[in-house]
Amino acid sequence: MSDKFDVIVIGSGPGGYVAAIRCAQLGLKTACVEKWISEAGKQILGGTCLNVGCIPSKALLESSHKYEEAVHEFETHGIATGDVSMDVTKMMERKNTIVKNLTGGIASLFKANGVKAIQGSGKVLGGKQVEVTDKNGVTTVYDAENIIIATGSKPVEIPPTPLTEGSIVDSTGALDFAEVPKRLGVIGAGVIGLELGSVWARLGSEVTVLEAQDTFLPAADQQIAKEALRQLKKQGLDIKLKARVTGSEVKRGVVNVAYEDTKGKQEAKFDKVIVAVGRAPYTEGLLSPESGVNLDERGFIFVDDQCKTDVPGIYAVGDVVRGPMLAHKGMEEGVMVAERIADQKTQVNYECVPGVIYTNPEIAWVGKTEEQLKADGIEYNVGTCPFAASGRAMAANNTAGLVKVIADVATDRILGVHIIGPQASELIAQAVISMEFGASAEDLGLTMFAHPSLSEIVHEAALSVAGHAIHIANRKKRK
Ligand code: FAD
Ligand code: AMP
Repeated sequence: MSDKFDVIVIGSGPGGYVAAIRCAQLGLKTACVEKWISEAGKQILGGTCLNVGCIPSKALLESSHKYEEAVHEFETHGIATGDVSMDVTKMMERKNTIVKNLTGGIASLFKANGVKAIQGSGKVLGGKQVEVTDKNGVTTVYDAENIIIATGSKPVEIPPTPLTEGSIVDSTGALDFAEVPKRLGVIGAGVIGLELGSVWARLGSEVTVLEAQDTFLPAADQQIAKEALRQLKKQGLDIKLKARVTGSEVKRGVVNVAYEDTKGKQEAKFDKVIVAVGRAPYTEGLLSPESGVNLDERGFIFVDDQCKTDVPGIYAVGDVVRGPMLAHKGMEEGVMVAERIADQKTQVNYECVPGVIYTNPEIAWVGKTEEQLKADGIEYNVGTCPFAASGRAMAANNTAGLVKVIADVATDRILGVHIIGPQASELIAQAVISMEFGASAEDLGLTMFAHPSLSEIVHEAALSVAGHAIHIANRKKRK
């Protein structure tokens, strides 16, 4: 094989591997450069998402949920379990097996589609050349017609809490505790902090979440965020807002954390601390000065809405560019870029990117929040329906939460859907499809949903926009 490719993708996370496979499907000669290697020196594909992100966190959320159900829920169904025990090592092994199967799956997909996986760290040179330095320090230069940068992101570290082996960890460390910490501190009440805090709280940790901001989940619709805060506190997560962490000290295995809240300086002791204060784009060693690729003021690779950088033929997708740091957003960008390289006209609809927090209850949304619409001066109608109105939710003993549909006053077009409740991560897809097709709340209200199903609550919330919901007392009464 010659060293010239139609496309070289740098990074094999969801942005990169999807872009590479789609390029190959379209007949482009494609390589994907990935530097990650196992302790045994074997290349690891799949990026953050498969290895230390979406997948392992969801595996542990499932396991911890099942444990919690066995301890607290089964009894209400008339199922006696006796003493329930937990084996953290086995839980971790199950998670690791899932990760191994999925990352191995990417290697098989590359093979099946003819994508050449190149191990090493990629650097963009001038003239659309990519220099790859492999695990042995051997450097090879490849030529490419097109380059897709998909190098992802890394956890942010803050000076007050330097990572300290075994005591102060980032999200990767929190996916691998050998035992359940008695007192767990989580810094940052973002998606990752809440999900990982939930895992360990369910398994028995006393969890304290310290969050500097005064608004809980500022990006979410605040009606949903308030309900989420109430539910999570009810589960025992001690979420402290306006609590900014200022320092830490590890002494004899105990982490003393200093923070400031409205009452002044405070201290808390933890057995472990997870730092979950966000993620930053990863561009270390990636761009030579000759590459011509520019970063924006926040360190992301600068791209337009078609993921083109300032250099024709060089693109960037996923966490390393603007927009929400979500796997599916990177995947869709990867497909768009691949298809545009193949002269198609694909475009990502950035108005319809769903966001999900896999807590219990789950939180999911798409489109605009009430707060955003108010700020934009857009008039809207709101319909809501609680899961307490659902027979299916009652049967599942899972009635917390609600669905909220927001529609334009003049056109009734759906502008946003916000869900907190059982299987919100699945239900939100209906809202995304509706919005993608430009549906009105009435369109969704006129659609038939299977009974009994949780989806009926999406239907009822859509009907409620015009005051037509059947299974709740409508706030508005209209004909
Ligand atoms: P990444 O997945 O970060 O992959 C980048 C890859 O590029 C890495 O493999 C890296 O080794 C490689 N690389 C970097 N530089 C170079 C170089 N110079 N040469 C060669 N290779 C290089 N998102 C969701 O949508 N849903 C979730 O449920 C979810 N849960 C998450 C849970 C956790 C704990 C974390 C940390 C993240 C979670 N995310 C979730 C976010 C998601 O993981 C990211 O949005 C996604 O992985 C970004 O994909 P990417 O392809 O842009 O980059
Ligand atoms: P996200 O970016 O959604 O992952 O969320 C990270 C959260 O961490 C944000 O809500 C930040 O306000 C919060 N955060 C950042 N620095 C600190 C700090 N020093 N103390 C407490 N919270 C912090």
